[in-house]
Amino acid sequence: PLGLVWLRRDLRLHDNAALHAALRACDKVALAFVFDRDILDPLLQRGLQADRRVEFILAAVAEIDAALREHGAALIVRHASAREAIPALAAELGAQTVFCGRDDEPEALARDAAVERALRQDGRALRTVKEHMIFERDEVLTAQGKPYSVFTPYRTAWLARYAAQPQQPVDSAVTSARLAALPAALRQPLPTLSELGFAPSNLHALKLPLGASGAAALVDDFSRRIDDYDQARDYPARKGPSYLSVHLRFGTVSVRELVAMAWARQQAGSEGARVWLSELVWRDFYFQILFHHPHVVNAAFKPVYDRIQWRNDPAQFAAWCEGRTGYPLVDAAMRQINQTGYMHNRLRMVVASFLTKDLGIDWRWGERYFADHLNDFDLAANNGGWQWAASSGCDAQPYFRIFNPVAQSEKFDAGGDFIRRYVPELAQFASKDIHAPWKAPAALLQAAGVRLGSTYPVPIVRHDLARAETLERYAVVKAQ
Ligand code: FAD
Repeated sequence: PLGLVWLRRDLRLHDNAALHAALRACDKVALAFVFDRDILDPLLQRGLQADRRVEFILAAVAEIDAALREHGAALIVRHASAREAIPALAAELGAQTVFCGRDDEPEALARDAAVERALRQDGRALRTVKEHMIFERDEVLTAQGKPYSVFTPYRTAWLARYAAQPQQPVDSAVTSARLAALPAALRQPLPTLSELGFAPSNLHALKLPLGASGAAALVDDFSRRIDDYDQARDYPARKGPSYLSVHLRFGTVSVRELVAMAWARQQAGSEGARVWLSELVWRDFYFQILFHHPHVVNAAFKPVYDRIQWRNDPAQFAAWCEGRTGYPLVDAAMRQINQTGYMHNRLRMVVASFLTKDLGIDWRWGERYFADHLNDFDLAANNGGWQWAASSGCDAQPYFRIFNPVAQSEKFDAGGDFIRRYVPELAQFASKDIHAPWKAPAALLQAAGVRLGSTYPVPIVRHDLARAETLERYAVVKAQ
């Protein structure tokens, strides 16, 4: 029989669980990717013509296509609604089964259910396999058989299960003999960005390593820094984290390989590897939260937090989005996401706290902004991160613990190097003055060439007043 492998968020040929399953079950396999109009058209309608992610995917898909062409095959690429394109393609190829990696986002589940129904009506089947997680769904439960909503005990259980059942990389190597011969109509060149309706972004100018080969280069680089991760990860001016998130998002790297690497290093006593592994456990944690509690997509994990009356000032929201709040670290962070599609984890916490607790803006506004601008946007992690910062989520930051944006800046960007990189108009300030320019004496401002309110904004809120207002605003949850 012939199996059709539908690639989605697993854009690589090695250690690919869906491909592995297809190769085990079928004599011949064909591989397809759909630029899904149900996902892309709404981006275009929201004005996101230049989306780095579309280019990132295109590069990853091109690498796969090139590898398959070396074997005399090709990647079949469609620009259509996947709900229709996949059943139609299975029929065209005569594939009995479509294999794909499981995706537990609510919209993905609905899409896959529709595809499965259409395939079944035609006498075919959809087989989904665990792909981008180590443990999914019900694989890590409490002793009472319930999903965890607190991270630390979840991690303990996760690590115990991994020790007992390490999730090894799988063999998914393809050979020419195993790849289905495709008619010319299915061996078309890849669509171009403009054929997909998108305009070029600055992705290529950023020189991010792309595709599975780019991911491998990043892994190689990070494997030489992982032991320092625990020391370096919190300082945005330092090269501390792995920068693998976009590759994990689109599966140009395998999470099984990464966890195996971190596990081995942790066993050898690396504290950096232990802490980094914990971050990958957070990733699984939020995926299972989303699976078990899909209401979090639109509402607070803890419903009482939906009673909060947000201030939602559109002008302040615009200032936050554009990096002109007058708080240098917040502005540097927002300019980082706008210019690169990446934001350091510490800064994601700082700007999310600032939006919800200093500006009193609904966390969903910030979540949506991140969803539109992060290269690594992943519904589960993004929603979890925002609800953590807004204190409305599982295992959240208590609402009365409010980040002070100046103290965060002094602690995590003490030398001001990160601020200088993204807020050049403050570059002449000395390290100790750069965190709160409005406190600087006039002579110092003049020496640094800064005119507050003209070359750089005055703060749009006073943190101490905002903090007091937030405590009042959040008091509605206290009675519970
Ligand atoms: P590293 O520090 O090298 O971490 C390695 C990997 O662990 C990451 O690539 C990621 O897959 C995972 N990871 C790390 N921290 C977390 C976390 N808190 N939750 C879940 N997984 C984690 N991460 C996303 O992948 N997509 C998002 O849309 C996203 N939105 C966020 C929004 C907010 C408000 C916050 C506070 C965090 C968010 N994160 C998100 C988590 C985290 O900030 C990023 O994963 C991380 O900054 C990516 O950089 P890195 O790959 O260099 O991270």
